[in-house]
Amino acid sequence: MEEYMYYVGGEFRSSKNRIEVINPANEEPFAYFYESSKEDIEYAIKCAKDAYKEWRCLDFSKRGEILADISDLILENVNTLADLETREIGKIFRESLFVDIPLSQEVFKYYASFSQTFYERFDSDKTGIDIIRYEPFGVVAVLLPYNVPFMIFGFVVPAALLAGNSVIIKPSEYGSLSILEFTKHLQKLDIPAGLINVISGRGDVVGSYLCSKDVDLISFTGSRETLKKIFSRISENPKKVVCELGGCNICVVFEDADLEEAVQNVCGSAFIKQGQMCIGTTLLLVEASIYDDFMDSLVEKIEKIELGDPFDPTVGMGPLVTKDHLLAVDEKVKNILNGFGKLIYGGRADKEKGYFYKPTVVELEEILYEEFFAPVLLAKRVKESEIETILENNPTGLVTQIWTKDLEKAKKFEKMSRSGTVWINTFARISPKTPFGGAKESGWGRNLGKEGLFEYMFAKHVGIGFEKSPISGWFGF
Ligand code: NAD
Repeated sequence: MEEYMYYVGGEFRSSKNRIEVINPANEEPFAYFYESSKEDIEYAIKCAKDAYKEWRCLDFSKRGEILADISDLILENVNTLADLETREIGKIFRESLFVDIPLSQEVFKYYASFSQTFYERFDSDKTGIDIIRYEPFGVVAVLLPYNVPFMIFGFVVPAALLAGNSVIIKPSEYGSLSILEFTKHLQKLDIPAGLINVISGRGDVVGSYLCSKDVDLISFTGSRETLKKIFSRISENPKKVVCELGGCNICVVFEDADLEEAVQNVCGSAFIKQGQMCIGTTLLLVEASIYDDFMDSLVEKIEKIELGDPFDPTVGMGPLVTKDHLLAVDEKVKNILNGFGKLIYGGRADKEKGYFYKPTVVELEEILYEEFFAPVLLAKRVKESEIETILENNPTGLVTQIWTKDLEKAKKFEKMSRSGTVWINTFARISPKTPFGGAKESGWGRNLGKEGLFEYMFAKHVGIGFEKSPISGWFGF
């Protein structure tokens, strides 16, 4: 069994409570990590506060150099990190190796290249000078989701560090190993000991305790249910929460779309990572005139997706992350089928070992806004005139996809869609330069781009007067 300790104040620590890690593809335990103790969480906060005082005094270019060093460390360890994410979470190995870990590394590199001039602005006239300066918050608690831990580590941590904050990272109890493994390399960096801390354990124990303590900002990527718990936990001691949630992502296919491209992308967006992707499609709207042909072509492709060992290069989909998740998804689908849904394809896979669920398509009679976080696609035949209302009524707004060759139509529906990202004739067009985040119930935080950096800084106005202040003489003395 492999052992993974947590990392606080530049030291590796353990506790008496172990959490076993099970490979979801074969149900065998292969590693364990520890649940951080309250004392160690408090120690992490103390170390992070000390480190912040030192780190914030460095200029941006020096902080950028450290981000570049971290980016190199990720590159050197990409195989090990990808291997761990696949064994622990069940993602197809090529996704971990070629997408998830490299994207994280690219974001570190991107923020490493930021220059200092961008962050201060001066105005002056004969009465004085105004300086607008961006300052770090202090200690940032970073709560990561299980599906892409290292990717979201890359979406959040470089921006938080570049801004001058220190971080305490809490990965999900279902996706901790890549982050814990990476801490083994942090001692090679020339950084204050408590600048980057990683604690581990269950969310409702370790995560909840961390949020309630004296951290200055919470960066949360996860579910809406957990966000509500965090808000109630911090209600006596409110602080900024940068939040990135999921939602019901809608994909609209119009009759004039490039249908082969659209089918390919619907398959990918619904079933990559077994649908455990915040950007994944859950609600597919297809214009009535092409609905039957489109669905036939979709099912024809889905039938070819092989389920099995995520390290096997011929396999397209691995298992879901845990047995509990598998059972919950199965029950949710059965409930829909007992109501107003018809199974087109899929369901629970017939395998002796592993938490496998087939790519599944359910045809709806009525609109349902769901996030399964699983390979389940809800499909609905629609008229163009119905689409505006369906988009408008979606309570969430992370990603919308639009497939049409008519760019005027695409523009019209893009404007109607209140979501953080709209992809027109494409999917997963994500880059370190473009802001990513949600609208409505999908959250309000932004990762990546300039906007991602500004989440971790507050604007300070320094006003210097040359003449009498505006209130001198106010009381007549
Ligand atoms: P989750 O909400 O169960 O857990 C997220 C994190 O919060 C974990 O680290 C967990 O341990 C911690 N946590 C759990 N309970 C807590 C509590 N009471 N107090 C403090 N922390 C607590 O989410 P998940 O199942 O790991 O991830 C799936 C969700 O994340 C989906 O809804 C998905 O759409 C969303 N997601 C969003 C993005 C994005 O960038 N918008 C990216 C990935 C995932």
